[in-house]
Amino acid sequence: MTTHPHLHTLLSLTAADALGAATEFKTPEAIRAQYGAEFRDYQPGSVFGFAPGEGTDDSQMTVATLLGYARGGGLEGVLAALREWLGAGPPDVGSLTRAALSHGRLDGGARAWTQSGHQSAGNGGLMRVAAVWIAGFREGDLARESATVTALTHTDPRCVAASVFLTAFLEALAGGLPYRPAAEAALGVMDGLDSRAVLVEAGLLGLDTRAAHDAFRAGDRAAHTQVRARVRAALDGHVTSQSGFVLDTLEAAVAHARAETWQAGVERAVLGGDDSDTVACVVGAVVGARGLALPAHLLPPLRLGHSWPGWERGWRCVERFPALVEGARARA
Ligand SMILES: [Mg+2]
Repeated sequence: MTTHPHLHTLLSLTAADALGAATEFKTPEAIRAQYGAEFRDYQPGSVFGFAPGEGTDDSQMTVATLLGYARGGGLEGVLAALREWLGAGPPDVGSLTRAALSHGRLDGGARAWTQSGHQSAGNGGLMRVAAVWIAGFREGDLARESATVTALTHTDPRCVAASVFLTAFLEALAGGLPYRPAAEAALGVMDGLDSRAVLVEAGLLGLDTRAAHDAFRAGDRAAHTQVRARVRAALDGHVTSQSGFVLDTLEAAVAHARAETWQAGVERAVLGGDDSDTVACVVGAVVGARGLALPAHLLPPLRLGHSWPGWERGWRCVERFPALVEGARARA
């Protein structure tokens, strides 16, 4: 790998997301009937009208987060950047993400979670949290920032724990640990973080969001247990579903990303359908951090399927991402 590992990972997750755009919400049978048993290049057929080679909300929000860091202003800056992305009317937005960002406050995620009856635990935080590692946060700072950036939209403790695990996993893999020890190390990071205290300290949970605070405290221990069980099942190859439920997405991604090659890991997610673009995006982050090489033909056509302040739909990722990553890492 000649590219810097963080830039490589951003390109990897975006390319994987763009491959999955064509198969999102389809069944494995319908995908095979339409595209065949292999999936090696960007294809038409996105239900949201993304053109071949365009990354969806997952990679767009990852980039928006990096734009927020690049401008400075920390967590408030990230929130503002995500709101600019939403304000430009992207083709696909998760319902909890929209509700949370619409509050325009750091505790909007907690408020939206309470409005959902503390039931909503989608993958909308997990899908973009690799940005925190790409932006240069390390070790304890990485764990804390992953918790807060996730809870901006997804405050359920399962969402927060999954994200803290994922970025620690990326760090461990990029540091050279083999797959299973890296996963075990990341579970240890997850268990070592008092996420509730971090969210209170950062102003994402508090007196104004007492119901969310109490629900988080009541569910946090079980969330860790569930993430640990799903990761260990995934290490043995188990996949429950490619649904948008955060634990299903995490399990599927960790299972697929064990593959020997970039193509093999991402292809399993793309052919698996359902929330295939998000599962592929998380796989792309993991295989990127492992340093697996992207097929070269996927880079020149790669773009993002939305324009918002700071990004144009026609821009080539391979040309724009280096300065974006450099800018975020200089300021985060
Ligand atoms: Mg998507």
